[in-house]
Order: sequence, then C-alpha cells, then structure tokens
Amino acid sequence: MSSPLNSTWEGGCYEVDEYTPQQIGEMRAREAEEEEQKKQMKEAWERDLAARLQEDPNYVPLVAPVFSEPDKLAVYNNRRWLLEKIIPVKFLNGSEIMHQKVMQHASLWNEYSGVKFIFVSKEEEAYVKIGFGGDRTSWSLIGTNCKATGQNEESMHFGLLTEESSDMDYSRTVLHEFGHALGFVHEHQQPNAVGIKWNEKQVYLDCAAEMNWSEERVKEQILTPMSKNFVTGTNFDNLSIMLYPIRKSWILEATEDIPCQTTLSPLDILAVQKWYPPQPYAKRIFH
Ligand SMILES: [Zn+2]
Repeated sequence: MSSPLNSTWEGGCYEVDEYTPQQIGEMRAREAEEEEQKKQMKEAWERDLAARLQEDPNYVPLVAPVFSEPDKLAVYNNRRWLLEKIIPVKFLNGSEIMHQKVMQHASLWNEYSGVKFIFVSKEEEAYVKIGFGGDRTSWSLIGTNCKATGQNEESMHFGLLTEESSDMDYSRTVLHEFGHALGFVHEHQQPNAVGIKWNEKQVYLDCAAEMNWSEERVKEQILTPMSKNFVTGTNFDNLSIMLYPIRKSWILEATEDIPCQTTLSPLDILAVQKWYPPQPYAKRIFH
C-alpha cells in the first residue's frame, strides 16, 4: 500500500540558526526606516495638495495615492523579506524544460502578493539559487536566509524533480519550497500546531525505515513546534502547502490521513497577502 511518505515528497527542509540580536536590530531599523519613508511621502503629498487647493479651491486631483498604515497586526518575523519586493532567482543546473516548469509553478505565489520572483541568468546575482539532482531531497533555506549562500551555492534544492515528473509533483514541491523562500515554515511546526498529539514512536519508526531519518531529524522537521516569538501563524490549516502529508497512525486519535497538498490553500493565500500586501502604493481614482 502506498503511503504519503512513499510518494516523491521532499526529504526534509533545512534551516540555519536564528538571527543574532544585532541582525534583528538592523532589520527592525530598516523596517522603521521604510515606515518613515512612507510617512514622509504621505506628508509631502498632503502638503502639495494643500498648496494646490490654496491656489485653486476647486482643484480636484485625478488620482491620489493610497498610503497603507503600518501593519500593526503582523507579528514581526525575522526572516520575512522587508524591503526586497523583487526576489531574483537563478538556476545553477537543470534543463530548460525543468526551469520552465519551476518558473510556471512558483509564479502562483506572485499572483497573490506584492513580492515577485524574477528569474535571471546563471551569471547574474540572485538571492534564491536552485540546484537539481544529486540526491532525493528537496529543501530550501527560509526567507532572507537565502541570501546567506554564495552565488554558486544552492539555497534551494530539487533532488526529485526531473523532466518527466508530473505537473502535480512540480506543483506541490515548487510551491512548498518557494513558500520556505518567502519565510513560511512547516504548517505542522507553526506555533498553533502545538496541540497536535503526535504518536512519536510511530513517527520515528516510519521515518527511520522509509527515509533513514534520525530521531534528531524527525524532531527538527516534524515534531518540534516553533516559538511564537519568531513565527506568526494562522489557525492550523490542514490544507496548507506547507504541511507534510501526515498518516493517521502518526497522530493519536486521528481518523484519517492528511494527504499531500498540491496547491495553495485559502489560508496560504491570506497569509501571503498579509505578509506581502499587493501593491501598497497602488493608485485609485480620487473622488
Ligand atoms: Zn519543507
């Protein structure tokens, strides 16, 4: 009988250490600077409008910018892209057909958010550096950590995808790993997943037998929820692309498997819109 783990799913997603307090301080300063810039733009526009109205009380601007308020609801996440609204991506190897398929599926994240992946040539500088083959694992660094690797060093890896892989394999793997590149963590490890009652013994047994994972790695990739200090989560979403397929024997009292997801869930879309709002300076007709 095939199980979720026997499918061509990823072999684990890796992370590096949390940022240092100094790095967090620097990012907070950048965030504050961005807010200050928005404030100044808004004030300049209001001054300009007041001056025009003084000259001509009947003046009506054709368009007015929409200045978004700072997002007070979002809990700070230290790997979110704060200033980079365009994230360059490049391929270190792989065929044109594989590149096209990755580009096609990754773009779904862009359709719902204000952040864009642009694909550049191997010679150009990129934040996300993709490698194919070599082993059967798929993984990505999380968010801005992608910048930490050298230009010829992978920040994302697709060990299972080939020219022959199905569209469904591309969709679930590419969306999941690009979700990590946007700063999303595993849904089964987000702070609101803390209530999952894992049948730990079974998880260790299956992962060791089928993927040769150590207990340490199972803890790191599956069982350990992340701190609320670092991660903002929606309610637990069993349709999230960031969730591993989970068989019912892994969770005490579960009645069915949670299957492998192949596309973005409604909550995934809400989350990416919250973290990366589309067009913060979009213009609208002024009435
Ligand atoms: Zn993952």
